[in-house]
Amino acid sequence: MTTAADCQADVVICGGGVAGLWLLARLRQQGYRALLIESEALGAGQTRYAQGIIHGGTKYALTGAVSGSSEAIAAMPPLWRACLEGHGEIDLHAVRLMSDHQYLWSTASITSRMAGFFASKMMRSRIAPLHGDDYPTVFRHRDFRGQVYRLEEPVLDTAALVHALAQPHEAAIWRGQLQQAAADKDGVRLTLADGEQQVQIAARCLVLSAGKGNAALLRLLGRDAPQMQTRPLKMVMVRGNLPQGVYAHCLGASSNPRLTISTHYDAAGRTVWYLGGDLAEQGVQRSDAEQLAAARQELQALLPWIDFSACEFAALDIDRAEPRMPDGRRPDDVYAEARDGVITAWPTKLAFAPRLAARIDELLKTAGVLPAATAEALPPWVFPGYALLPWQEEERWS
Ligand SMILES: Cc1cc2nc3c(=O)[nH]c(=O)nc-3n(C[C@H](O)[C@H](O)[C@H](O)COP(=O)(O)OP(=O)(O)OC[C@H]3O[C@@H](n4cnc5c(N)ncnc54)[C@H](O)[C@@H]3O)c2cc1C
Repeated sequence: MTTAADCQADVVICGGGVAGLWLLARLRQQGYRALLIESEALGAGQTRYAQGIIHGGTKYALTGAVSGSSEAIAAMPPLWRACLEGHGEIDLHAVRLMSDHQYLWSTASITSRMAGFFASKMMRSRIAPLHGDDYPTVFRHRDFRGQVYRLEEPVLDTAALVHALAQPHEAAIWRGQLQQAAADKDGVRLTLADGEQQVQIAARCLVLSAGKGNAALLRLLGRDAPQMQTRPLKMVMVRGNLPQGVYAHCLGASSNPRLTISTHYDAAGRTVWYLGGDLAEQGVQRSDAEQLAAARQELQALLPWIDFSACEFAALDIDRAEPRMPDGRRPDDVYAEARDGVITAWPTKLAFAPRLAARIDELLKTAGVLPAATAEALPPWVFPGYALLPWQEEERWS
């Protein structure tokens, strides 16, 4: 057991999802003595439920909701591509790209509404309508009546991303629950426990990147701000004899895609379609059985030439955790707030993890928390391991 009170760090990060792991990698590259604490397994929160889409904001711009923040999100695909090619701020060349681009499709009933968007030069640079010969296989059917567009936004394997971010830093990633936490302008004192073992940690700053867990951590610190909101989703997984490589949004009447499909693989390598969009937003009002019936109906309505009758379906409930917004709406940028030794952060999108890490880096520098000149290794502790992706957990299918 590590003896009490002798672990000193510049920064302790609480939460090993994409936000905490990106920040850990960025800070350690600069020489910070940074330590990450994870209570379950890396990626176990929202990160493993993500569809892995590196949004450039097109799906929001298409519905007319263009705002200042759409420029921030538009900068994300090139930033990630540089990392994936091995010349960005973090080396992600080992991360598998599930797809280099996505598709957006409209049904016959709203194709005419799309035309107006192509009057805009900005939209023309972001998406391109395809000719029938270039359609992905799933839409090459005589009964397809809509239009297909290509979006230059990549899709990542999120499990590979978590591995690539964490692996070089495993010695600085500790499993455990904070039992006690106190922080003020002069520093942070923490008691971390894993089973019977305890360690006292002193740090100059604590970063809360625990997603939904941030609320309980703030309570442990005796704070009631910043406040959090959760927005639930009821996602659906489908497995069976399905077309491969489908990463596509169906444009609907609301500001959200009617359906988003991403393709993944279960533990036995079988194809899984993971369904989000309005189906998942509206699905929170439904029981699991009702949601699965709604998913079958939606797939049949949109892709009637595919036979889903022999497919297995499963529902997944998951909350998005974000800073509280006045009207509960989706925040459209990252959130990080520094107060008395603690930075509370939510990326609001996986794609925003690098932007959030840069923001937190700035906040640390502003607070005078700079890398301490010590090469001393951190004491040994238990590594939390990596969470499986939901569709790889067989029990979820029954
Ligand atoms: C269904 C779904 C699909 C999505 N798809 C996309 C997408 O395609 N593209 C995109 O850009 N965004 C997407 N998102 C959003 C994205 O997943 C999240 O914004 C992002 O993963 C949040 O990362 P995070 O690290 O802040 O939180 P999380 O991933 O939730 O990580 C928090 C971590 O903290 C740990 N933790 C909790 N409490 C404690 C504690 N007390 N001590 C220590 N550790 C703790 C948890 O175990 C967890 O590992 C999606 C979200 C959902 C729900």
